[in-house]
Amino acid sequence: MRQYVSPMPEGDTIHRTAAALRRALLERPLTRVELPRIPLPHPAIGATIARIEARGKHLLVHASDGLVVHTHQRMTGAWHLYRPRERWRKSPRAARVVLGVEGGGGGAGVVAVCFAAPVVAVLAAEDLARHPTLRRLGPDLCDPQVDLDAAAERLGRFSPPDRTIGEALLDQRIACGVGNVYRSDVLFLHGLAPDTPVAAVSKHQRRAVLATASDLLRANLDGGDRTTVDGAPAGSLWVYGRGGEPCRRCGTPILRSVLGEQARSVYHCPACQRRAAA
Ligand SMILES: [Zn+2]
Repeated sequence: MRQYVSPMPEGDTIHRTAAALRRALLERPLTRVELPRIPLPHPAIGATIARIEARGKHLLVHASDGLVVHTHQRMTGAWHLYRPRERWRKSPRAARVVLGVEGGGGGAGVVAVCFAAPVVAVLAAEDLARHPTLRRLGPDLCDPQVDLDAAAERLGRFSPPDRTIGEALLDQRIACGVGNVYRSDVLFLHGLAPDTPVAAVSKHQRRAVLATASDLLRANLDGGDRTTVDGAPAGSLWVYGRGGEPCRRCGTPILRSVLGEQARSVYHCPACQRRAAA
């Protein structure tokens, strides 16, 4: 069966994973539930999978007995789907969640395995609204109905004066979905250097940046290689991962730098993207 792996989960990856898990698991009774080292209760054998949600980069698998398996993949985690006796592509020791169901995969059943996710928990459905991380998430940019005005307002509210737009775009309290790839390419499309202070970005442009992020995320929900360059071959990105290569617009070599406390890579064209003063 197809493998769902991403070394760099962005919101679109989690939505694709959720769609694949829905096709395999939804409304089917659980035949196998393993959550090593996670305290009881766990979803019960025989309970059905009632709903699978992506909220930003969080994945929530709701069982019919009211329990919810919550995972966040960060940089290391991945969900795979297997037939019951198929050999796993990663060590079983790295499995954090194993959910087997009847009936999928041509009737033989399906096993969904989440490997190496740093965040795994079982929550009661009624506790979701109080969850310290989940309840703070901003609007999900993968959602076609996303409230961009609300997201733009949060961009101002959650950004202290010296915060850069490059850091703010990764803050999932402002809006969910943007990871390292999209933040670089979205800022390129708006001609903004990643270290531009949020305070120097107009309200109109803040909303426009978030609208572009939402457009790119939604254009990549169907699978295939992540693409941000309209009309270019699949997998073409404007600047992300292209350090030293020529800018697709002006030919200037793309620069890689690090930004923020987590020192994550950001790419930009020093000619096309300027740092506006606050
Ligand atoms: Zn350029």
